[in-house]
Amino acid sequence: MTVADAPSTHWQAVEALRAADPLIADLLTAEDERRADSLQLLAGENLATPAVLAALAGPLVDKYAEGYPGRRHHTGCAPADTVELLAIDRARELFSAPHANVQPRSATSAVLAAYAALLRPGDAVLAMSLEHGGHLSAGSRANFSGRWFQFHGYGVREEDGLIDLEQVRRLALEHRPKAIVAGGISYPRHLDWAAFREIADEVDAYLIATAGQTAGLVAAGAAPSPVPYADVTVVATHKLLRGPRGGLLLCGDELADRIDRAVFPFCQGGAAMNEVAAKAVALAQAATPGFAEYVHRAVDGARALAAALAAAGAAPLTGGTDTHLVTAEVGSLGLTGVEAERRCAAAGLMLGRCAVPYDPAPPTETSGIRLGTGGCAAQGMGESELGEVGELLGRVLSGAAAEPVRARVRELARAFAGRR
Ligand SMILES: *Cc1c(COP(=O)(O)O)cnc(C)c1O
Repeated sequence: MTVADAPSTHWQAVEALRAADPLIADLLTAEDERRADSLQLLAGENLATPAVLAALAGPLVDKYAEGYPGRRHHTGCAPADTVELLAIDRARELFSAPHANVQPRSATSAVLAAYAALLRPGDAVLAMSLEHGGHLSAGSRANFSGRWFQFHGYGVREEDGLIDLEQVRRLALEHRPKAIVAGGISYPRHLDWAAFREIADEVDAYLIATAGQTAGLVAAGAAPSPVPYADVTVVATHKLLRGPRGGLLLCGDELADRIDRAVFPFCQGGAAMNEVAAKAVALAQAATPGFAEYVHRAVDGARALAAALAAAGAAPLTGGTDTHLVTAEVGSLGLTGVEAERRCAAAGLMLGRCAVPYDPAPPTETSGIRLGTGGCAAQGMGESELGEVGELLGRVLSGAAAEPVRARVRELARAFAGRR
């Protein structure tokens, strides 16, 4: 086979898949149809850009390039080296960070590498508690983090749902953590990074910013950056950034070596170089005015959606949002999060149940829902469409018949299907 007749184009590749594995090809078609027929509102999901998809399917998928540019364990790494150096430079520039590591395969891997770089087994760590919106990697007993380190959790105030910085300070003074983790997965407000830095300095702790959800906002100038304050910042590339599934780490020069050695070889082997290429593409796209417009549209849409939910009696936590995320309480509508998620899914509105702070329901039921507008905004939706989505959600949650809502959701989904 010559280069010319190798299955190098997307369509040839799809045909090869159909021929080799019709079962998987049909399931991928089914996934396409599922998405075209419903609205994707899961907080952590987004649509990678077409350029990112092309890089993911490109020839670097095959390349072994263990190590770092110029210091590889494998030969033939010249293009891969340049790709990784570009990804690093673009990450540094986009986030104004002295050093970047673009190899973590997921945000969780990036978090664990940050711990590996800064902590020893048994060290105390202060992080947002899981019940109040912390991620599993912030000390769940089911995760590496909760077994190897001594996690203590801070939370939000019951009256307004905002992070209680006084509690953070009190717990920091009490437990003297080696690191404080700022950030979570369902907190819809900006974080006060300077206040976290001050508390970390008071107890001589490292500050790790887990900006999985926030990084896209920061890139667009729609949220304050943790980078000037945190010792290490963790970014998810597949969320608002619209890149490939993965993570990256940002830090100052003094921690650069430790971070790099923690990612490889401590936590990972060879990086997925196609993912590194796709990260480079996403980082370049995130520096454009078009991306900033997209992010502001996602945030305006989330505000409209939160207002519509509030009008329907599903109170948004913290009273609203500064971001593309909305977390709402559905217990006052007589629903559990599980039932709310089921009803919304039946109407084609795909969102996630979640525990709310001080949740009276068990974790298997929960009293809340969490959603994000990144995917809908990536398809071109804005404030008016997402406001309508909020009204549709309100109707479903208030017990209206599903069918008319399902019909309107299908219409909206079809109108924007295939766009990204
Ligand atoms: C999304 C997210 C994670 C998990 O990311 P994965 O890539 O699924 O491992 C962890 N922490 C934070 C803060 C996140 O936003």
